[in-house]
Amino acid sequence: MQVSKQQRRNILKTLGAGAIATAIGGCAPMATRAPKYPRFYSRQPWAKPRVSMDNVIRSIVGHRPYRPSGFNVSKERFDEKTVVHNYGHGGGGISLSWGSSALAVRETMGMTPGDVAVIGSGVMGLTSARLLQDAGWNVTIYTRNVARHTTSNVAAGEWSPFSAHDPEVSSAAFKSQFAWASRIAHHAYTNLGGADYGIRWLETYQLSDSTEEPDNVELADLFPMTRVLGPGEHPFPTTYARSFVTMQIDPAVLLRQLIEDFQIGGGKFVIRNFKDRADVLSVKESVIFNCSGLGAAELFEDDELIPAKGQLVYIPPDPAVDYMTFGGGEGMLYMFPRSDVILLGGTFKLGDYTTNPEPEETFRIVTEHQKMFAAFG
Ligand SMILES: Cc1cc2nc3c(=O)[nH]c(=O)nc-3n(C[C@H](O)[C@H](O)[C@H](O)COP(=O)(O)OP(=O)(O)OC[C@H]3O[C@@H](n4cnc5c(N)ncnc54)[C@H](O)[C@@H]3O)c2cc1C
Repeated sequence: MQVSKQQRRNILKTLGAGAIATAIGGCAPMATRAPKYPRFYSRQPWAKPRVSMDNVIRSIVGHRPYRPSGFNVSKERFDEKTVVHNYGHGGGGISLSWGSSALAVRETMGMTPGDVAVIGSGVMGLTSARLLQDAGWNVTIYTRNVARHTTSNVAAGEWSPFSAHDPEVSSAAFKSQFAWASRIAHHAYTNLGGADYGIRWLETYQLSDSTEEPDNVELADLFPMTRVLGPGEHPFPTTYARSFVTMQIDPAVLLRQLIEDFQIGGGKFVIRNFKDRADVLSVKESVIFNCSGLGAAELFEDDELIPAKGQLVYIPPDPAVDYMTFGGGEGMLYMFPRSDVILLGGTFKLGDYTTNPEPEETFRIVTEHQKMFAAFG
């Protein structure tokens, strides 16, 4: 399925990118102007990411499990088995995880804790498993892939629970559930803050030629220190830069820590590739959490669930780069400085199951970022 103009507009609006810059070259900045702009949160000088095709470590691809109407947290009965679904979080699953999993675990209210199966070892499976343990359940995770081979491990990792649904399709009830999950998840991550869980707070710049408000204004208080910088107030080639502070989550570190916490809590893993729903229902546990991400499309015949292919480019890490950027190019663009790599994104191709990194996207992502940081001396 191709992305329609309207879908792309919705995704970008949901991401809060507003109108993406149309002519970077048209507003060419002066060569050395970056250092003179005061930093807005960090006390360090601006550092220019060393972006070039020669620096590319690799390009990778992941498939966000996207449902236009939003993620599915619900309970279903199949004879003597109860399945609690928790899947379909699009491009916001890392951010939403603790909140969505809390909603899912709430579905067990009134049941006596006993043995429970969790299908999937991505961020939804692991956070559901941890919350179930806290509620007294004895958890076994059944999974085809270990965490480091999941979509969750590919995620870029900005705390921003967006591009998770199409606001023109999702219901008012979903939007309220989404806001609840976002707030709970935000709260949970602030409790886990620190290097152990791969979480740090970073200055973030959303670049745009428009002052259009993002759609997510009802969550605005979760993005402290927000301000809109106009012409002459920031070093980027767009007219405006919306700056705020948010968390950056390093998925590989987070997943490793969650696995450790799960195992300390007595949790067990079983590697198993389920063929279909009947196969899932054949596990010995009578309560089953379905956290199979995109796998749910086949396992539970969910036709609405489709991939949103995302491509990322890795360049070597640089501890001096201590801010994130989003937008500022003709296609989707973002730069997140993680501890392991500087990550450059990205793409969001709905319905595209292909797994190959596309060389022309790598080239676009790299060269658009080079133009964006051209002013940084
Ligand atoms: C490029 C990219 C950038 C992203 N950036 C961000 C971001 O900045 N912030 C953010 O919040 N989110 C981001 N996301 C989205 C996030 O990665 C996903 O929403 C999230 O990882 C979904 O988690 P999950 O646990 O539901 O699925 P997954 O991580 O895919 O895990 C699914 C699990 O189910 C198992 N499974 C599936 N089918 C079967 C089967 N048949 N039998 C047994 N096991 C099965 C798998 O093996 C796996 O263990 C990004 C995603 C991509 C691709």
